[in-house]
Amino acid sequence: MRRPFIAANWKMHKSPLEAESFAAAFLPLVEKVTSVDVAIAPPFPALERLGRALARSPVALAAQNVNAEEQGAFTGEVAPGMLVAVGCRYAIVGHSERRTLYAESDAMVAAKAAALLAHDVLPIVCVGESLEQREADRTLQVIETQLAGSLASIPKERAAEIVVAYEPIWAIGTGKTATPEMAQEVHAMIRERLGDLFGAAGAEIRIQYGGSVKPDNVAELMSQTDIDGALVGGASLEPESFAQIVNRAGGSA
Ligand code: PEP
Repeated sequence: MRRPFIAANWKMHKSPLEAESFAAAFLPLVEKVTSVDVAIAPPFPALERLGRALARSPVALAAQNVNAEEQGAFTGEVAPGMLVAVGCRYAIVGHSERRTLYAESDAMVAAKAAALLAHDVLPIVCVGESLEQREADRTLQVIETQLAGSLASIPKERAAEIVVAYEPIWAIGTGKTATPEMAQEVHAMIRERLGDLFGAAGAEIRIQYGGSVKPDNVAELMSQTDIDGALVGGASLEPESFAQIVNRAGGSA
């Protein structure tokens, strides 16, 4: 019912030229995978060139951030309409690096997600607990608060289009992955809260797992009932490893 969705988050890596070379190497490696949605989020300067390289493929273009305003005196920021103009289908919002390094609040994430949807760019809304919060047994409470705050401005009738990414902060870029059972426990709770917030649409929302996803662990993670895909950082930087992840998410070796 929910189509698996694998997205690459390149963070602050790759020039426009490197992004184009990646696409040339990556696309032939995933051409047989038809059962998985795939997106790549490069840094802003590479969006246009990567978008051209992906144009005749099923792989979608995504942004890593956005400003909620339409235009104006916001030095250094990028508006939703600008993402539309370069062909973005998705944008990541509320990544833990933005929440912690750039003080993004749930309210800011909510405004960004709603602004994106208004432009038909689908938000990938990230939530996740820190190690300290997990050890203090506060994981579920933290995630609940983030969900309620970050999704507060999503209209019910469009809720099924959004994507939620559960990314435990302690698993991002550390090589430590949550066990499939640990991840499923949180995903199931997220699914329940999405139902509370959006009714039947909660069952349609795709929930990705993120945090040191690799070719070796993606299939087991995705075998869990409420894990519908992955948001991949480090392992998405090489065409071969990202292609293996996509292929395994689609059920081939
Ligand atoms: C991320 O930052 O979204 C991420 C999941 O990174 P990594 O796969 O490198 O842990």
